Amino acid sequence: MPTLFGDLFRNLFKGPVTRPYPYQVRDPFPASRGALVVDINRCVFCTLCEKKCPANAITVTRKTKTLVLDPYRCIICAACVEVCPEECLSLDPQHRKPA
Ligand code: SF4
Ligand code: SF4
Repeated sequence: MPTLFGDLFRNLFKGPVTRPYPYQVRDPFPASRGALVVDINRCVFCTLCEKKCPANAITVTRKTKTLVLDPYRCIICAACVEVCPEECLSLDPQHRKPA
């Protein structure tokens, strides 16, 4: 019982523990895998990332020099980042930018 009243009074004078998402987005945790970023200007369309991707999230077409990433298939495993010879793929720890 004493702890119950202690908790009750403590919580009466504390602010809310939740954030008004999406207006306030918390900072990402260190080493968190947020989103895959493609620097298409450095890409040589070698297709290594497409071959390595376990989720079939990348489609590279040499003929048209296009790289299409399906963000709904991507599992942010970073296999493509490790294999890219031009270092044009990277992971941004921030998944969603603050509004
Ligand atoms: S591995 Fe890198 S250079 Fe090769 S197609 Fe993918 S993004 Fe482009
Ligand atoms: S991070 Fe993983 S799942 Fe996403 S595109 Fe790269 S290899 Fe595929």
